[in-house]
Amino acid sequence: MEKPSIFMKKKLLFVLFSIQLFVLVLIGRVIYIQTVKADELQKMAYEQQTRDRLISPDRGSILDRNGTGIAVTETVNAISVIPAQIKDKDYVSNYLSEVLEMEYDEVFEKVNQKVALVRIKTKVDSEIAMEIRKKDIEGIVVDEDVKRIYPYSNIASQVIGFVGKDNQGIIGLEAKYDEYLKGEEGKILTLTDSKGLEVDSTQERIAPIDGYNLVTSIDIIIQQYAEQTIKKAVESKKAQKGIIIVLNPQNGEIYAMANYPNFDLNNPFVINDSELLSIWDTLSEKEQNDALNQMWRNTAINDTYEPGSTFKTVTSAASLEEGVVTPESTFFCNGYHIAGDRMIKCWRYPRTHGAQTFVQGVQNSCNPVFMELGERLGAEKFYEYMDKFGFNEKTGIDLSGEAVGIMHKLENVGPVELATMSFGQSFQITPLQLLRAVSSMVNGGYLITPHIGCKITDNEGNVIKELEYGENEKILSDKTSEQMKVILESVVSEGTGNKAYIPGYRIGGKTATSEKLPRRSGKYIASFLTFAPAENPQVMAIVLIDEPQGTYYGGTVAGPVMQELLLNILPYMGIEPVYSEKEKELPETVKNTVPDISNLSLADAKNILKESNIEFEIQGEGENVTKQFPPAGETINIDSKVIIYTQ
Ligand SMILES: [Zn+2]
Repeated sequence: MEKPSIFMKKKLLFVLFSIQLFVLVLIGRVIYIQTVKADELQKMAYEQQTRDRLISPDRGSILDRNGTGIAVTETVNAISVIPAQIKDKDYVSNYLSEVLEMEYDEVFEKVNQKVALVRIKTKVDSEIAMEIRKKDIEGIVVDEDVKRIYPYSNIASQVIGFVGKDNQGIIGLEAKYDEYLKGEEGKILTLTDSKGLEVDSTQERIAPIDGYNLVTSIDIIIQQYAEQTIKKAVESKKAQKGIIIVLNPQNGEIYAMANYPNFDLNNPFVINDSELLSIWDTLSEKEQNDALNQMWRNTAINDTYEPGSTFKTVTSAASLEEGVVTPESTFFCNGYHIAGDRMIKCWRYPRTHGAQTFVQGVQNSCNPVFMELGERLGAEKFYEYMDKFGFNEKTGIDLSGEAVGIMHKLENVGPVELATMSFGQSFQITPLQLLRAVSSMVNGGYLITPHIGCKITDNEGNVIKELEYGENEKILSDKTSEQMKVILESVVSEGTGNKAYIPGYRIGGKTATSEKLPRRSGKYIASFLTFAPAENPQVMAIVLIDEPQGTYYGGTVAGPVMQELLLNILPYMGIEPVYSEKEKELPETVKNTVPDISNLSLADAKNILKESNIEFEIQGEGENVTKQFPPAGETINIDSKVIIYTQ
């Protein structure tokens, strides 16, 4: 064998060196790939080799206080395709677009995507899914999916809220408690080759984790009574809208919160106004969104209003607590009160209330009494109580978008502002803020946190978390609270609140008629706040009727609405009537049916009502009846009045 020449040696060395260099580069490359690019590459390989099918978890239920489902999850199906496995894309697109009621082009575009798996449609009913499964077309995948169902459709719609396509809560409790309700998605992993064909049939299933349930303080029966009552009131008074809130003044648990008009939670993007619905497609996207947001709005907490006379409770409690008045203190109403350089009228002006005790002043809702109290307290003390009663903060309710009170800055409060504020004008609060403040007056002086969520549970009913709302701060003495209960009970039994009187029940409350801004536009909010039983209140409610047509007085308009609500919910809550000696003499079961007196002369209408022994009240100065309330055919308590509107 010939010795290798130097040339050959050099050549060999060069080759060796080259190989070494190549190996070095290769090692470097491997290190680079394994470290720097590892994550990215792994992801690419994973996507190429597996088809990742997400499995939706069961979203937790929203339950009422007795465990009744008010938002529940139903199993439906999701349809996907594996494009690489589809032989006839045109045929499959045609079939799916037909059976799923979709546009052909949309399906065809998806079927032709160069991905391992593409979802065609979610929330497909089981029957349709079954049909597709039976057809057994290669490349079509039927998975389980979930759908949110609201069994009571319109009930408490603005409070419960709803979920979007991805099952995420959008408004209301669904949004507020989303983190507990949503659960975690699961996956089905299938190994495939680069063409999307399954390598083997073993599938790895990562199970979804179901969401927790939210147990609320809502009582679906009370909620339904509230909905029914406010709907009837808004419709019969041709009002803009109405609200009823019912809560427990001892602990802040909300039993019902009803807004009317409401909307169907199962179709939350369908507008509830028939006029708007008929021109819906002509509206711009912004107009549509504005209209939907308005419909979804929970006026009970998102909007403020001028409370009017129901706020006299606050001036009363502050004055009793500060000792600037006692129940027996005497006042004199000559129809107005001079504040600064202004003469501010009593609602009774030009008539007067004359001499009256403080208690009678509250019963009469006499404005000069409260202006006098405002002066005795002074602006600074008055504002101290505005703070104490929580009007400058959110109530803390577990719903988003809560508004706070809007009021003058203390330094801008002169005698006129103080006078008007003392009887509930020239500032704005939310209805829920008022309920919270009045709760403290009747529960021994504690400022509660109104709330709906009570606890988080799992599917076995185990409590995962008790929802806490902090200590209730004591802001009033026991004495003031006792006095307020007695005074407010007398408003219903003897004063302006008598239209909510129910024999056998001791009810406390206060009415209000608020003029909406701008003043003298003829727009009012009639409201009524009550609690029962007066001596140990278990329930407190407020009714607000926004822009009633015809008569707008709080007692007249909201009184019978409140009475109807209480007549339904007090027996339901197991609060039994206790009749006084005088009440025992009343024939218990006798009710009157309201006769039809509309379109009659006033004289004829009065005769008909007198013959039926029905008391009545006349509104307006005309000779002819234009309207009546309640409507003909309604049954009313024997002590209820029919209101005759004349022109
Ligand atoms: Zn007066």
